[in-house]
Amino acid sequence: MTKNIYLNQAQLNAEINRCLNCKTKPCMKACPVGCSPHDFIQMAKNGDYEGAAASIVNANPMGQSCGLICPDKFCMNACTRSHLDFPINIPKIQASILKHGYPSSTSDIKFNGHRIAVVGAGPAGIGAAAYLGKNGFAVVIFEASDRVGGALNLIPQFRLPHEVIRADWEFVAQNSLIELRLNHVVENYTSLLKQGFDAVIVACGEPNVIDLGIEGEECAVSYLEYLRSPKDFVTDGNVAIIGGGAVAVDCALTARKNGAQNVEMFVRRKIGDMRITAEERMSLLENDIDLTTMTSVKQIHVDEGLLTLDTCKNHFVDGKLQPISGTLIERPHFNLVIKAIGSSAPRYEDSEKIFFAGDCKTGGSTLVEAIASGQAAAIKIIDIFL
Ligand SMILES: Cc1cc2nc3c(=O)[nH]c(=O)nc-3n(C[C@H](O)[C@H](O)[C@H](O)COP(=O)(O)OP(=O)(O)OC[C@H]3O[C@@H](n4cnc5c(N)ncnc54)[C@H](O)[C@@H]3O)c2cc1C
Ligand code: SF4
Repeated sequence: MTKNIYLNQAQLNAEINRCLNCKTKPCMKACPVGCSPHDFIQMAKNGDYEGAAASIVNANPMGQSCGLICPDKFCMNACTRSHLDFPINIPKIQASILKHGYPSSTSDIKFNGHRIAVVGAGPAGIGAAAYLGKNGFAVVIFEASDRVGGALNLIPQFRLPHEVIRADWEFVAQNSLIELRLNHVVENYTSLLKQGFDAVIVACGEPNVIDLGIEGEECAVSYLEYLRSPKDFVTDGNVAIIGGGAVAVDCALTARKNGAQNVEMFVRRKIGDMRITAEERMSLLENDIDLTTMTSVKQIHVDEGLLTLDTCKNHFVDGKLQPISGTLIERPHFNLVIKAIGSSAPRYEDSEKIFFAGDCKTGGSTLVEAIASGQAAAIKIIDIFL
């Protein structure tokens, strides 16, 4: 299942040999967590895979997961090689190095006397805990669900196998100062201070699905329900996805892999406006996913056991998207409709001892940005206590 998402040894050698060894390290500067592809690629080139792996995990506690799903807008976008031909596939090199092996375990770190609670074991919580643990804080991570990884567990396993999330976590968890308490919902963040924690980092993600706000909305399944358990919604018929972002693409690809005959995405804006990577665009073509753009879904209704979408075309007026009158089109015969237009969470301000990190602070972002946000919250705590 995982064979194509890594580079084999020949591909890895070829890719690391393309690195120009740029002295200014633009790839490192473009990485939200300051990981240095320049350095780990040079180490791998010299056969020092353990050193390369150590260089990655020192900067990034979820290095293998990032290698598999980081978008091309960070290190790859900065890679000098793109001026010559095309950028080095840095994320895949990173994932392949850690697939090869993690560095040997870290030495024991001395407890500095301070205890910190982290709410949420998603990337931001893990990023915060790993950073604090390295600096001698005792950290307890409280996680509502039965596993680490947060929203990463919704990503289809053909892109990010769950064992990769676990492998990254197991390396972090070797630090005996970090404790994980699963199936533990924190209802009140300030109560953790009363329990003796010196500070709290809240990294609870964005759990609320954004509604379409249209009649018949209840006929659609949310991306959250769908990606949590795609097997519950298997159909060999027609599937409509409402939304045009990366999450909508994951829903479309999953429906196709689970046997849907036709998968069609309904997108309000143009193809060029879709916030997806070149690889995601390519995967839509390769998997024969249809795109109906500049189209809004106005209503969903049930007709003889199947679902019909009432749609209308949009155009731009003075730069604003507007419906075009008289363009109502009924699109019948869908077996499943999935809504994937985003998620939200209430926003809170940091207080003296409670800090927010990750998607709950910044809005929907990426894995590596969530880790960076967790690390930034950890640095605030280090500045207070050390
Ligand atoms: C389908 C999908 C595809 C994606 N694809 C990509 C991609 O290709 N590349 C990329 O970089 N990013 C991708 N992302 C985005 C990435 O997963 C998120 O940006 C990242 O997971 C956010 O991390 P976080 O720690 O802020 O929040 P989350 O990952 O949401 O983690 C929050 C954690 O907090 C826990 N929690 C919440 N409330 C409580 C509470 N009260 N008590 C205890 N625990 C609590 C939750 O159970 C959860 O485990 C994708 C996201 C989705 C949904
Ligand atoms: S920018 Fe690209 S070519 Fe230059 S050091 Fe980084 S990975 Fe190598």
